[in-house]
Formats: sequence, structure tokens, C-alpha cells
Amino acid sequence: MSEYKNFIEDIIDGDLKSGKVQSVYTRFPPEPNGYLHIGHAKSLCINFGLAAKYNGKCNLRFDDTNPSKEDQEYVDSIKNDIAWLGFKWDKLLFASDYFDVMFEAAVKLINKGLAYVSDETAEEIRVRRGTLTEPGTESPYRNRSVEENLRLFYEMRDGKYQDGSKVLRAKIDMASPNVNMRDPVIYRVLHATHHNTGDKWCIYPMYDFAHPIEDAYEGITHSICTLEFEDHRPLYDWVTHNCDFPAPLPQQIEFARLNVTNTIMSKRYLKKLVDEGKVMGWDDPRMPTLSGLRRRGYPAAALRDFCERIGVAKANSEVEQSYLEACVREELNRTANRVMAVFDPLKVVLTNYEGSEELTVENNPNAEPQTYRQVTFSKELYIDKSDFELVPPPKYYRLKPDGYVRLKGAYIIRCDEAILDDNGEVKELRCSVVENSKSGQDVSGVKVKGVIQWVDANNCLNVKARKLQSLLTDVKDGVTDFNERFNEQSLKEVDCKTEKSLFSAKAEDKFQFMRVGYYVMDKDSNGDNLVFNEIVSLKDGFKPSK
Ligand code: ATP
Ligand code: MG
Repeated sequence: MSEYKNFIEDIIDGDLKSGKVQSVYTRFPPEPNGYLHIGHAKSLCINFGLAAKYNGKCNLRFDDTNPSKEDQEYVDSIKNDIAWLGFKWDKLLFASDYFDVMFEAAVKLINKGLAYVSDETAEEIRVRRGTLTEPGTESPYRNRSVEENLRLFYEMRDGKYQDGSKVLRAKIDMASPNVNMRDPVIYRVLHATHHNTGDKWCIYPMYDFAHPIEDAYEGITHSICTLEFEDHRPLYDWVTHNCDFPAPLPQQIEFARLNVTNTIMSKRYLKKLVDEGKVMGWDDPRMPTLSGLRRRGYPAAALRDFCERIGVAKANSEVEQSYLEACVREELNRTANRVMAVFDPLKVVLTNYEGSEELTVENNPNAEPQTYRQVTFSKELYIDKSDFELVPPPKYYRLKPDGYVRLKGAYIIRCDEAILDDNGEVKELRCSVVENSKSGQDVSGVKVKGVIQWVDANNCLNVKARKLQSLLTDVKDGVTDFNERFNEQSLKEVDCKTEKSLFSAKAEDKFQFMRVGYYVMDKDSNGDNLVFNEIVSLKDGFKPSK
């Protein structure tokens, strides 16, 4: 973490200094209704990062108080993704384990005259709520006695009432300028089976009531959430205060959520893509989910670095996708081994070379200490068609008739003859190896400017390479609806020849295909069918905005 302090750290420093808190306790509270995405990475980095920086703790708490959309698959994936991102939670908790605590808190509010059972419909509540400019109207049930409220609330719990027929409302202030304080609903009747508590409950707490109780019960000191909850903070404080939790009460702090250009941050829409089979699953390498980015080959360290660099802000904004890619590229440039791959093969026959040999090639010029691998070299090779020009432009440093080029890690070769097919297309090159030009031991005296990749035609692999693009097309003619922006061209599979060393690669191993781009082996690889996903191109498309 950097030396620079963000506004949350300023608040925490103040709280520690004033003695309001003795230590820092944060939490990450996902609802298990989908997979985590890059936006969640931001929240994870903040919450776990603060705990690490202040020598505190961070809980992973599943906010599973809504029974309808939650699933064990999501719980498992979320745990997996957080561990992959490199974070370790203190306690693993489920908000649904506190349903009894929440029920008792509600009873306490009733006893204090601070909550009442209402028979209003959702529509009646909405209408009586008023607007931003007009105060609300009090519920006709607002002045029920404590005894009546207790009896009705217990009956709600015991299953006496239909869904939607009764709610428990906090009794706060129908004239409050903050509409969230106008007697918000805190419990509702819902006959639904919960993935954790089964059929034990037929009433469930509302988020605004449940969340502060979860935080306070766990002793969270700083409850960090996104800006849309700013207006809910008075209610958050009202709940922890009136439910008599001990000091220090948790403090809610809001930050701006992460938005990335052309990137879907809505779990609902991501789920739709999965359900409709538009993608291969939640971990499709085009998905902005953490498991998708992982499969795409984005290193966890690059995601952490990205979140750190964009900082923590109080105003919403959108980060360029290319900035994320730049972070990924920087990390891979440091860590990924280089290998040779040819996408558009052109046969090269070395007329003065017989047999074959093993060459030792360095894996990564940035590695410390350096490591090496063996690559075979023989009479017949492939280079990329784009590295040869029959009629080259001036200053063309790759291969041309009667020209020289260095084959990476091998020899300098000279192009003696280009063989054309019936259409006049180059189909093969006859070349010769320059004597004494072996890499590392070159005493040939021949100076070349171009270095190109190649593979041994007699000992290479045929692999599939997936070229990936954003799932969304650019906003055009004002069309912002995701459904109309699905990029049908976002996945293309092409053939490619690579050096043999990739045969021993495992899923998630990342490489720089020299002069082409970064690629990761996909889990769809099996036996001889190897599949690689493009991670990022080599070139940096990011230009900082002025
Ligand atoms: P939904 O409301 O669709 O269920 P959510 O994005 O609010 O989704 P949660 O599981 O509730 O998902 O989120 C867990 C935590 O991650 C919350 O604290 C939330 O504020 C934070 N979070 C979610 N999306 C982003 C984002 N784009 N940027 C930063 N934080 C985010
Ligand atoms: Mg949410």
C-alpha cells in the first residue's frame, strides 16, 4: 500500500487518535446471488487492504438475508475468488445466522415504542411516504399499543399471515427530509425456504435493518459501502443506536463504486448472459467476473495493483478499460515467460543446414535469476507471413529477397529465393544459415536489425488461440442498453503453431507469444488439443486523459 492516505484512512486515523476505536475491523459483505466481478475487487482491496494496513481484521460475511436468489454455488465461488485475489478473511460468517439476533432487536424496538406492525399494502406505504418536497402521512396503524404490536409480530413469525399482508415498520419521522427515515419497513412476511435456515423463518429482515445489526454484532468499526447508501446512513445509525449495541458503534463510510468502460458491472445482466448461453459460463474469459478474468489470464497481482492505482474517491467516475489492461501488461511483462508462436505460417527451408539441434533460449529477459528452455531447430521452419515482404518498403528490417534477419535465439538467415504459387502468392522461402551467426556466439560480422520468431516445422504444436474482445460494443447513436450492445464478434478462434515447450504448460500458465501478445492456457485444453486465450496485446492502448 502506498504512503498516500485516502479519505477513509484519514477518518480511521482520526478515530484511532481520538480513542473512539482501539483497532480496525472491516468486513466484505457480498450477497451470494452471483459471482464477484471487477467492481467487487475494488471493495475487497479497500476492506482487506485497510485491515492489513492497520493491523486489524476483515470478515467475509455473506449477506444472505434475502432467501429468493441465493445459492451455494455462489457462496463457493466467492470464497474461491477472494482467496485467489490473495486475501484472507478473519471470520467466515453468514448474516442468516443472526436471524434470532435481528428478531430480538426488532422486539426491543417494539418494546421501546419504536416499531409497529402495519397492515398497509406496499402501494399504500409508497403513496403515504410523500416525496422529496412533501412530507409523508402517518400510517393508520402507527399508534398500536406495544402489547398489540408484540402479539402481531409474534404471529407474523409464527406463520399466521400471508406474504405482503403485514410488515413491521420503524417509528421514526414521517416528516423527515430524508425519505429513508419515514417509518421504513424493517421486517416483511415471506414464506420462502432459505438456503441456510430452511423453513425456520417466514419473516425476513430488510437490508437497511439487517446490515447495521450484522456490523454492530460483529464489532465492525468501519463499515465501508458504495455511495448509493449515503442517504441510508442516518437509518443505519438509528438502528445501531436504538438497538442498544455497545460502543464503539460501527461507522458507515461511503466511496464511489468502480465503473470500467464497456464493462458490465451488473450481476443481474451477467447472470442473464450465463442463463441464455451467450457465454460459456460465469468464468467465460470475456466475463468481468473475477473467475472470468482469472481464466482470461489476468494476474491477481495486476488486479490489486489496478485497484490501488485508481485510488478511493468520493465521486463516481468511469475508468478506461485500457488502464486495467496496462496494469495487466505491466505485470505480465515482468512475470510471463516468452515463447515463440506463428499465427500465419510461411515455410522456410534452410538449404545449407542438415539435421537438427537443441538451442538454449532465455525465458524472460526481466527474470531474476534468468531461466532457460530448449527449443529445437531444423532444416524446415515456419515464420509468420507478415515477417516477409516480396517488395519491401524502405527501412524494412524483416525478411526480404536477398535480405537478412535474425531468428530469435538461433541464427541469422539470408533469403535466397521466394517460391510463389499459381496466384503469385509466396508459398515457401529458400534461405541459408549465415555461418558463425549463432545467438550468443555470433562472430559472423553480419549486422541485422530485425529479429523474428519462428517454430521448428518438424517439431511444433498446432494450438487454438482465442482472440477476445469486450462483450459490449461501444455506445453508438445513444444506445446504452446492454441487450442491444452484445458483441457477437467477441470470441474468435484461430489456429496457430507454437514451439513444443508449451506441451507441458498447465491451465492458467501465462506466456508472452513473442511479438504477438500475452496468452494463457485455458482449462479447455486436453491431450493434444491445446487452447490459449489472448490476455492482452503487447501494445499499450492507454493514453491518460488530459
Ligand atoms: P447486487 O446489488 O446486484 O446484488 P452488488 O454489486 O451490490 O450487487 P454485493 O454482493 O451486495 O453486490 O456487493 C458486495 C460489496 O461489494 C458491497 O459492499 C458493494 O458495495 C461492493 N461493490 C459492488 N459493486 C461494486 C463496484 N462496482 N465498485 C465497488 N464496490 C462494489
Ligand atoms: Mg448489494
